[in-house]
Amino acid sequence: MEQTRHSQSISPTILSSAEHFFHTPADPIACVVLLGPPGCGKGTQGRLISESLGIPLISSGEILRTNVRQRTMLGLQAQKSMESGALVSDEIILQMLRWRVLESDCTRGFVLDGVPRSTRQAEFLETELFGSDRRQIPFVVVKLEMDDQSLIKRITGRRVCLLCGATYNLETNPPLMRGKCDSDLSDLVQRSDDSVEVFRKRLNEYRATSSRILSYLSLRHGEIPEIACNRPIEHITSELLEVIRGSIEKPVLEAEVL
Ligand code: AMP
Repeated sequence: MEQTRHSQSISPTILSSAEHFFHTPADPIACVVLLGPPGCGKGTQGRLISESLGIPLISSGEILRTNVRQRTMLGLQAQKSMESGALVSDEIILQMLRWRVLESDCTRGFVLDGVPRSTRQAEFLETELFGSDRRQIPFVVVKLEMDDQSLIKRITGRRVCLLCGATYNLETNPPLMRGKCDSDLSDLVQRSDDSVEVFRKRLNEYRATSSRILSYLSLRHGEIPEIACNRPIEHITSELLEVIRGSIEKPVLEAEVL
């Protein structure tokens, strides 16, 4: 899978610094929220960060795609919106998250990729998800950024494995064998919502909503750190880990104090 390939390319220094920082196994680690436009690499970085910190990655898009593939009720409800590049309803997303964070692997925190996509979802994170019982776990928000031209270029080269969902890029992260997944040799395909037309719609949606979401979150967390993604994967990961470390050391602003 993409995750394994990338974790092999991360320098041991990055990994050991994370291990050193997050010392005992019982300590809460962090709830990390990755914001950023579609295609900027949130999924890839989320996976690397989750592996480094030892907390699960919760990717709303990935959960939805799995449900669509398995033709579950959730998948059937979400499929139409996803194929057209529109957002799935907040109710579906919130229900899905409520269920997911109750799993035992989330007790020390998690990395969230793809949420929040609306102010309602941001409010949900603040009020329900990070409510009383999760207060001890630091809540870190980071924004990844990339210009639209680079995003469109990147997205048209994106390919995913039909079987395991691993992601490749024909230019920046090609598979070892053309058209085949490195892990299971299944066919690589373009995501149906990665056509230029649908992608533009997703990007517009992001640009239209992200400033409101950022304003909402920065009222509670101070200025949201931003990381440029037009760089090698391992540089971004290294900076992300630094930012997470810095945010955890800094006292978090509590919503009720504001
Ligand atoms: P992603 O893989 O994050 O780009 O998500 C793929 C698609 O899943 C999006 O274009 C939306 O249709 C849907 N989706 C994923 N996460 C959310 C969310 N938090 N809110 C609404 N729709 C979502």
